[in-house]
Amino acid sequence: MLPFKLLSHPGFTVDLGPHVFPAQKYRLVRERLLEAGIADHADIVIPRAAGDEDVLRVHTPEYVRKIKTGAFSPAERRELEVPWSASLVEGVWLAAGAAIEAGRRARRDGCAVVLGGGFHHAFPDHGEGFCLVHDVAVATGALRAAGEVARVAVVDLDVHQGNGTAAIFARDPDTFTVSLHQQNNYPPVKPPSSIDVGLADGTGDEDYLAALEAPLARALAFGPDLLWYLAGADPYEHDLLGGLALTRAGLRERDRRVFAAARSAGVPVAVTLAGGYASTPADTVSIHVGTVLAASDVYASARDGLSASRA
Ligand SMILES: [Zn+2]
Repeated sequence: MLPFKLLSHPGFTVDLGPHVFPAQKYRLVRERLLEAGIADHADIVIPRAAGDEDVLRVHTPEYVRKIKTGAFSPAERRELEVPWSASLVEGVWLAAGAAIEAGRRARRDGCAVVLGGGFHHAFPDHGEGFCLVHDVAVATGALRAAGEVARVAVVDLDVHQGNGTAAIFARDPDTFTVSLHQQNNYPPVKPPSSIDVGLADGTGDEDYLAALEAPLARALAFGPDLLWYLAGADPYEHDLLGGLALTRAGLRERDRRVFAAARSAGVPVAVTLAGGYASTPADTVSIHVGTVLAASDVYASARDGLSASRA
C-alpha cells in the first residue's frame, strides 16, 4: 500500500492509431504498479472529469468550442499533432479533473500522482504538441476558486520547454514556474518561465542533477501551497523526441531529489507524468513506475519517521 494516492482513469488511454505518442502507457503504468505489488487497488482513485467552468478559467470560450466539436483548421490540426476524437476530448477533461483531485489529495497526504497528464504545451486559445487542455493550470484555477491554494510552483522536468505553462502564468505573481529542458528542441519559441534552464544536447545524469539543484530550491523558497511536478520521462537517453542522455537511474534520482526537497520544505507535491517516447516503450513505462517508487521511498520513510517519533 502506498503512502499517497494515484489518480488513474481508463479514459486517459485514447486510441490515437499509429502514433509516436504512446497513450497506452497510462494503462500499462497502472497495470505494472499493480502486478509488481507496488500499489494495490485501494491506492487508486478514479477521478471525475473537470467541469467546463474549470476549463474556461484558463481557456477561451472559442477554443473550448473548437475542442468540443473538433472544428480545427488544417493548420491547427497539424499543430496539435494528435487526431481529434470524442474520446480525446473525454481524455483531456479527465486529465484536468485528475489534476484537481491530485492537488487536493497532495495537500492532505503530502503527495499524489496522476498516472497521466502534464499537458504543458496547451495555451489559453490553442493547443499544440499533443496538448489540448492545460491540466495543471485548470487545476490551479479550480483549487484557487475553492480557496484551497494561493501560491503555487511548477517544476517541469519534461525534456521540452513548458511554453504553455510559461505563457499562462506569465503575469501571475502567485505562481513560480521552472522549466529544465533541452534548449535545442521543440518548442521553437520558448516564452520565459520564472526560471528556464536550457540544457545542451547530450546532457547526462551528473550535469542534469547539478542544474536542477538551484531552480528546485528557488521554487520551494517561493513558499508555494502546492508544487506541481511534471515528471517527464523524455530526458531519457533513448527517447525518440528528446536529445538529453539521462539514464533510468539518473531519472529515478531526479525524482527522488524533487520529492525529498519538497518534503523537507513541507511543500505538498502533485505529480503528472508528461512526455515519454522511448525507442523501447517498456522503458517509458519503467521510468514512470520509477517516479512512483521514488515518491513511495520518500513518503513512506516520512510516515515511518512520524510513527517512530510518536512511539
Ligand atoms: Zn516532452
